[in-house]
Amino acid sequence: MYPFKNIEAKWQKAWLEHKAFSVRADPTKKKYYLLEMFPYPSGRIHMGHVRNYTIGDVAARFKMMQGFNVLHPMGFDAFGQPAENAAIKNKSHPAAWTMSCIDQMREELKKMGFSYDWDREISTCLPEYYRWNQWIFLKMYEKGLAYRKDAIVNWCPDCETTLANEEVVDGKCWRCKNEVNQQELEQWFIKITAYKERLLDDLDTLTHWPERVLIMQKNWIGKSHGVEIYFKEKETGEIIPVFTTRADTIFGATYVVLAPEHPLVRKVIQGKPQEKEVLKFIKKVSKESKVERAAAGLKKEGVFTGSFCINPVNNEAIPLWIADYVLMEYGTGAIMSVPTHDQRDFLFAKEHGLPMRIVIQRKADSVQRTEDLTEAYEGDGIQVHSGQFDGLPNQEAKRKIAEWMEKAGMGKITVNWRLRDWLISRQRYWGTPIPVIYCKKCGIVPVPYEDLPVELPKDAPFTGEGGSPLMKVKEFVEVKCPRCKALARRETDTMATFIDSSWYFLRFCSPRFTGGPFDKEEAAYWMTVDQYIGGIEHAVLHLLYSRFFTKFLYDEGLFNFEEPFQRLLTQGMVLKDGEVMSKSRGNTVDPDEIIDKYGADTLRLFILFAAPPETELEWDDRGIEGAFKFLNRVWRIQENLKDKADGDLIRMMHKTIKRVTEDIRDFKFNTAIAALMEFVNAIYQSQADKEVFSRLLLMLAPIAPHFCEELWQSLGNRESIFKARWPTYDSKLLIEETVTMPVQINGKVRSHITTPTNATIEIVQEIIKNDAKSLQWIQGKPYKIILVPNKLASIVI
Ligand SMILES: [Zn+2]
Ligand SMILES: [Zn+2]
Repeated sequence: MYPFKNIEAKWQKAWLEHKAFSVRADPTKKKYYLLEMFPYPSGRIHMGHVRNYTIGDVAARFKMMQGFNVLHPMGFDAFGQPAENAAIKNKSHPAAWTMSCIDQMREELKKMGFSYDWDREISTCLPEYYRWNQWIFLKMYEKGLAYRKDAIVNWCPDCETTLANEEVVDGKCWRCKNEVNQQELEQWFIKITAYKERLLDDLDTLTHWPERVLIMQKNWIGKSHGVEIYFKEKETGEIIPVFTTRADTIFGATYVVLAPEHPLVRKVIQGKPQEKEVLKFIKKVSKESKVERAAAGLKKEGVFTGSFCINPVNNEAIPLWIADYVLMEYGTGAIMSVPTHDQRDFLFAKEHGLPMRIVIQRKADSVQRTEDLTEAYEGDGIQVHSGQFDGLPNQEAKRKIAEWMEKAGMGKITVNWRLRDWLISRQRYWGTPIPVIYCKKCGIVPVPYEDLPVELPKDAPFTGEGGSPLMKVKEFVEVKCPRCKALARRETDTMATFIDSSWYFLRFCSPRFTGGPFDKEEAAYWMTVDQYIGGIEHAVLHLLYSRFFTKFLYDEGLFNFEEPFQRLLTQGMVLKDGEVMSKSRGNTVDPDEIIDKYGADTLRLFILFAAPPETELEWDDRGIEGAFKFLNRVWRIQENLKDKADGDLIRMMHKTIKRVTEDIRDFKFNTAIAALMEFVNAIYQSQADKEVFSRLLLMLAPIAPHFCEELWQSLGNRESIFKARWPTYDSKLLIEETVTMPVQINGKVRSHITTPTNATIEIVQEIIKNDAKSLQWIQGKPYKIILVPNKLASIVI
């Protein structure tokens, strides 16, 4: 057993002392910026972190050995709710809790031997970092991209505080278990929608992003072409605008559904027999989270309002309903329902016994009946029951109906976007204070740049009650108006933590810079991020916000690129017994225990070998054992080194170098390791010299860095193996060792044989004697072989 404990401690200390991975901008060297998504400091690292960061570390070390100037930083996404909740629970301070978690996590990360430039560590909860959140916010405010607006929040009347969606469990407060309701509150928004066209169009430039992520972003931005149709409420005559991308189905609309929050609802139900039931339903829905309401697959609930509206294309009066799945935030807060051609509408109509009408036939000849439908038909076909549009293919009808409706004033051709502005206000302490002051005379006054940062007050009462703790800190709230010097009130909302992570990759370029969020020259050298690695759960929000910030700062003239991340890799999850490892399932494996038992290099090797980076990885105790055995096997090679290596082994070494180089370049670490294992087997069956062993160590070094560093030193090398060059191969030695050639007998090809390259006629003769197909023709007969080397064996009988 190789002494992994001593070795790992020794090299971790040496790397740190020699600042082995500290880098500086150097225009004479080609740079490579490798970044893994920085963690929330919950205290312990888990296998998901280990996997993410090991993948990144191999790529970073590989690039170092290829001569790149590699920036590989790490930091902590340190603001957020858990720290504040822990403070409430433990009567501690969120800062104390967070900083001790960071200290613990940093130590755990160091034990994995990752090649971070620790001089660049950042924590977003420190004023030296978050002052630049405030600076960027003020820049956005100047451009009209930060504004205030009423929005609905989850509100616990008992704790007198707003709650995040995750803090509402079954409609109840996570803390006091009392019922949560929804309240309107004026809050800060960032106008990301001003960038929607660019955020959508530039997805086309991200050719090295996973297709899946591009599709998710595209859907999130959600650009759709369609028609806004004007339905009219029958009694009041109020117009209900409804957006649809399927104008071809308008003649099949059999009811209209409003969001329960729609302002028209209360008006139309007044005095109707349905009033009480509708109000009860509205109250119930107000307790559901919007995420649940909008989620596909859940059963949708709704009630009839007692009112009707008129479909403008055929003047039909159709019932007006309200339902939980229609949200006021999306579109106009009203939808038309076509149960025959929309599956969600179909299920809702079946559930509530609502009418249906087919308006698109699958084929012109086969007439379908609504009674026979088992699901909605969402595909293409021919228009029926659609007035003058009957008989047209529906795609053509879609355009014609839209044009006809617009001309007749029944609707308007429009583009609809799903993307909403970004609500950033949080009524909490542990976040970046929004740098704004409210003055009775001057209104909203931004904090002057020279007064930044607006620091969080050191002490605040963390009770979980009575709103944000900041509201209760008099010295924080009461300020002089920067304009008129009268007594004014400071904003007590803090920013959503997604702000912090929307530009941290820029801060890493010059983490101690005090003249701005980053040094322009440093950013010009290091950016953009060549390779970004993180979980698929960040496919939408984090990546979209980062892209948006980058575009905004580009517009501010701070750099000349518009996209932050060139390549993106989303690593798969770590499973145990077929399920995602998680604390709540109780199926976690603690990285610390594995490191203690086998060492970090074994853990790294196992994680990389068990599955390709993008796919799920099933934890396997035997796999860990196998990885450990392999390293021990490599360890013992040093005891049997010869003066000269075998020629075949050298040929195989060159082949292995080619395979491993290409596989690591392409993030196929599992096949790279397989190639190294084959090579090690060959070494055991042959004889290796120092030269061969050195090359093996160089190839294995990014994967098992401490281990290789140690053996490299024991071979007499003074400098770190990561200062050595990645091995190259001699392509002349890559020629296949065998060839396959046809066997011609009296002019006809009768068989094929495989021979060593440049085989002599004697060898070919031997092989033919053992080839059954050739024997059928030549057995017992005199014959002669004519050989065209490596090409053909011709036999004349
Ligand atoms: Zn509560
Ligand atoms: Zn004032």
